[in-house]
Amino acid sequence: NDKVVGFIGLGNMGGHQAMNLLKKGHKLVVYDISKDNVQKLTEKGATSAPTPADVAKQADIIVTMLPASAHVRSVYLGEKGILSTVKKGALLLDSSTIDPQTARDVANDALKAGAIMLDCPVSGGTGGAEAGTLTFMVGGAETDFERAKPYLQAMGKNIVHCGDVGTGQVAKVCNNLVLGISMIAVSEAMNLGVKLGMDPKKLSGIFNTSSARCWSSELYNPCPGVLESAPASRGYTGGFGSALMNKDLGLAVDSAKSIGEPLPLGNNAHQIYTMMVTKGLGGKDFSAVYEFLQKNK
Ligand code: NAD
Repeated sequence: NDKVVGFIGLGNMGGHQAMNLLKKGHKLVVYDISKDNVQKLTEKGATSAPTPADVAKQADIIVTMLPASAHVRSVYLGEKGILSTVKKGALLLDSSTIDPQTARDVANDALKAGAIMLDCPVSGGTGGAEAGTLTFMVGGAETDFERAKPYLQAMGKNIVHCGDVGTGQVAKVCNNLVLGISMIAVSEAMNLGVKLGMDPKKLSGIFNTSSARCWSSELYNPCPGVLESAPASRGYTGGFGSALMNKDLGLAVDSAKSIGEPLPLGNNAHQIYTMMVTKGLGGKDFSAVYEFLQKNK
């Protein structure tokens, strides 16, 4: 395969995803505003480009993994953005979590520039990104989805076509609505159980074989020491930042408001993560809500 793959946004998730594309033998050209993050990839054989436009000049497929809608707009539509130089027929795969409307708008602009953009947000956390087992939720035409699939398979295991452009983001926002709420639920219950005298490992073991079983308990337990692999056991670092979860719940709250649907728990959860961000915990993993609840009685 002599196609050149571009990758922009080499953070906690994108860094691993790009590494997996390299490992699968793809020719990779990368860009990030963080020089350190770029270097981690060039050390392993990727080449770097000075701007998104320079990535787009060379690449047939470009994957982007950026924090939020504003970053996606600037990387695609900005002066030195992807669409200023994109190749005709290039495939643009945005795996950031952003609002569905921005996904549709940028995909429209991409079409005008002669390229095809699909929204491909992911689930599975940094562990899934590293292991190449992410779930991709893809919005776009079926034929474009088939073209994108081999590249997404290099980074993930479950590649799901959700529907038209934007529906990948709808699926992702709804998934994270459940996740944001369930992490608070597990945190409240773990804290209560431990304070009432239960051993945390025993308690989570019971959850995981009982009706409280969920991802937040089983694979990402917020109580330090319960799971060695979880961010809670390394000071809540290297996972999914509270600021990003706050952003995602904001997307859910805004979407619900815009169509007049109820979101009582989502609204509450959003307020809790907003408080965490206000208290300076935005960079910590969102499971630090466990600690936050203990400290803010
Ligand atoms: P991150 O903050 O670790 O990484 C973002 C990267 O983008 C950084 O390297 C940053 O330097 C770079 N960046 C920012 N602005 C840029 C620009 N203008 N041009 C080029 N690079 C730029 O974030 P992350 O945890 O990797 O998350 C990325 C996206 O994936 C977010 O939308 C997040 O909601 C979503 N997501 C994260 C997780 C997770 O567990 N971390 C899981 C699923 C989805």
